[in-house]
Amino acid sequence: MSLHVAGAGMAGLCAAARARELGLDVVVHEKGDRPGGSMLLSSCVVWRYHDVDAFRAECPGGDPELQKQVIDRLDDGIAWLRSLGAEVVWEETGNPRTVGVRFEPRSLTDVLVRAAGDVRVGSTAPADAEQLVLATGGFQGDRELVREHIAPGGELLVRANPWSAGDGLRLALERGAVLSSGMAEFYGRAMPAPPAAVPEDRFVDLAQLYGRHALVLDDAGHEFAPEPISWSETDLVQAIAHRPNASAWYLVDEDALEVEIRGRTVRDMVEAARAAGGEVLLPNELGVELPAAYTYAVHVVAGITYTIGGVRIDSQARVLRAEGTPIEGLYAAGADAGGIATGGYASGLASALVFGRIAAETAAAG
Ligand SMILES: Cc1cc2nc3c(=O)[nH]c(=O)nc-3n(C[C@H](O)[C@H](O)[C@H](O)COP(=O)(O)OP(=O)(O)OC[C@H]3O[C@@H](n4cnc5c(N)ncnc54)[C@H](O)[C@@H]3O)c2cc1C
Repeated sequence: MSLHVAGAGMAGLCAAARARELGLDVVVHEKGDRPGGSMLLSSCVVWRYHDVDAFRAECPGGDPELQKQVIDRLDDGIAWLRSLGAEVVWEETGNPRTVGVRFEPRSLTDVLVRAAGDVRVGSTAPADAEQLVLATGGFQGDRELVREHIAPGGELLVRANPWSAGDGLRLALERGAVLSSGMAEFYGRAMPAPPAAVPEDRFVDLAQLYGRHALVLDDAGHEFAPEPISWSETDLVQAIAHRPNASAWYLVDEDALEVEIRGRTVRDMVEAARAAGGEVLLPNELGVELPAAYTYAVHVVAGITYTIGGVRIDSQARVLRAEGTPIEGLYAAGADAGGIATGGYASGLASALVFGRIAAETAAAG
């Protein structure tokens, strides 16, 4: 009997490659026109918090058993990716809160596709497969599901591959799965608002990462940012999503413009937004009274990268029913498996790697 894998992104390719190593016959179905999913578009930093306590403090609503698996199994997973030949471009994350490495996304994709074997592009997995790994990458690409669970105040910018539209979630629910915690949460970035052009190869460099150094106003001129804004700014981006038009203005002063974040100054990010056709105004053009002098006002929209909620799995990546019993032969990994980073932010690539491999091991053992 073949193990079918839905999705040739991080989780699906890791599941398939591991399953083949363990002697299973594997078919990977990829709905899009290329393998790699959002992994290929990503910065490709695969990371974890230092320990379970730190993970729990950062993501207090997440499932502790799943968080423990990420902490316990990530380093092995990274070593395995290296052993397959994936190119590492940084040996650390550059963030003192976390440990991990940065892979080169094209190399990682190519290496995993080779190891996964039978990868069928333009294909969807048979819904009734007896052994099926759901790795379709979350539901950010489906406007209806986003409206139902996240209820944004306007259209979010989909900052992800275009094909992750909740197929795994729907299929699992049809088979009796239960939802995880965190269904209203997502990881994302503030991006230049329309009319800016934000093609997928600009998802990384057009991100506006300086909400903590800005006065943040909604389109009606009201302040609303969380106090304090978290280091990842996930909470701010979620808050922007709920404002009118899912938009905000970031107002920056001269001092803020020189602040460096992830190797770029705020000025660089503002100029990138302007060059992409985004609205960068003089603050007095907003028509609101301001508490201090600002140099620029940049219009941003909440960009959704992946959904934090999904189907509930156990620590063996088995999809669970409401009673907590596993659905036979059905596994989920990556963004399809929810409730790991609820209340905060954690590496999506890390949980995709860890639970992709675990899904393969559970299938092989069964
Ligand atoms: C710009 C950007 C930067 C990022 N940077 C980082 C980072 O530095 N670190 C980090 O940890 N995370 C990062 N991420 C997030 C990371 O890419 C995701 O968390 C990760 O790819 C999730 O893995 P996945 O396998 O669930 O989804 P994906 O890798 O997106 O793969 C899902 C695949 O499923 C396919 N699919 C969808 N529906 C079906 C179907 N019905 N049948 C078959 N196939 C289907 C999709 O086409 C896609 O190929 C970033 C993402 C983006 C977009």
